Amino acid sequence: MSNIFNFTPTVLKNLFHKPVTKNYPAEPAQYPERSRGHIEIDIDECISCGMCVRSCPTGCLAVDRNEGTWTINRFDCIACGYCTLKCPKKCLHLTPGYQTPGPQKKEAVYQKSPEVLEAERQKAAEAAAKAAAAKAAAAAKAAAAKAAAEQAQTAAEPAAAVKE
Ligand code: SF4
Ligand code: SF4
Repeated sequence: MSNIFNFTPTVLKNLFHKPVTKNYPAEPAQYPERSRGHIEIDIDECISCGMCVRSCPTGCLAVDRNEGTWTINRFDCIACGYCTLKCPKKCLHLTPGYQTPGPQKKEAVYQKSPEVLEAERQKAAEAAAKAAAAKAAAAAKAAAAKAAAEQAQTAAEPAAAVKE
C-alpha cells in the first residue's frame, strides 16, 4: 500500500507535465552544444591540395583537381575533425545536424562552380607557361655560357702554339 503513495507524486507530475518526447521532425532538432554533426565544405574555397585526404584516418575523402571535385563517403566518416584542422584554406567545417537519410549508400560529391574551375585552369596554364619560359631562358643562358667558354678556349689554343 505504501508503494502506491510513493508513486503518487510522479503520477501527478506526469499528468500535468508536457510530453518529454520531441516533436521531431515537425520541430527542428536541438543539437547539444558539443555535438560533432557532419563535415561540410565551402567547395569554391578549396584549392584541391589533398591535405584533408592525407589526414583522414578512415580514407573516406577523395579530391580530383582536374575535375574540381571533393568527395566524401559519409558512411565511413567518423567525424573526428582532423581534416578541418589540416585544411590550409579552412574551408571544411563540422556542422551540427545529420544528413538527410536516403535509400542508397552513396558518396557525396561536391563540384566547384564553372567560374572558379575556369579561373583555376587559367592560373595553372599561366604558371606552366611561366615555368616553361623560365626553363627556356635558363637553357639559353647555359648554352651562351658554354659557347663563350668554347670560344675562349679556341682563342687561347693558337697563342699557346705560338709560344712553343
Ligand atoms: S572528420 Fe575525420 S573521418 Fe571524417 S572526413 Fe574528416 S578526417 Fe575523415
Ligand atoms: S585540405 Fe582543404 S583546400 Fe585542401 S583539398 Fe581538402 S578541402 Fe580542399
